[in-house]
Amino acid sequence: MAAKDTDSSNDVARLGELGTEEALTRVPNPPRVYRCGKCRTHVSRSDDILAETQEHYGPVILFYRATNIYLGPEQGWRRLRGGLSKVADVFCRGCDENLGWKYVRTHDFPNNFTEGMFSIDSAKIVVE
Ligand SMILES: [Zn+2]
Repeated sequence: MAAKDTDSSNDVARLGELGTEEALTRVPNPPRVYRCGKCRTHVSRSDDILAETQEHYGPVILFYRATNIYLGPEQGWRRLRGGLSKVADVFCRGCDENLGWKYVRTHDFPNNFTEGMFSIDSAKIVVE
């Protein structure tokens, strides 16, 4: 009877350990913060990245969301890597640096999923 009591308390302890391990492995890495390379204003996070890709002038990162930015006027259709797109320039709210653009509208391409997304010049941001 005493042995049985010991067993059950061991079970509880083992379950507790398992639970802790599981919780630890499920905790995602904290998202990395992307900041303006000039003034270090927080612009976006690694968990808001759709893809890293290349534009004609160099590497860019496609973000679902961006913060602490403002948009310039919507521009005419531009032929970008993702096809014909209407974009608005994206500026840092901290220092007015042009960081890239937002896809305001995209033509009827298979990749018009970029609509509403932010294409940020990799050279203009830093990651922590
Ligand atoms: Zn800035």
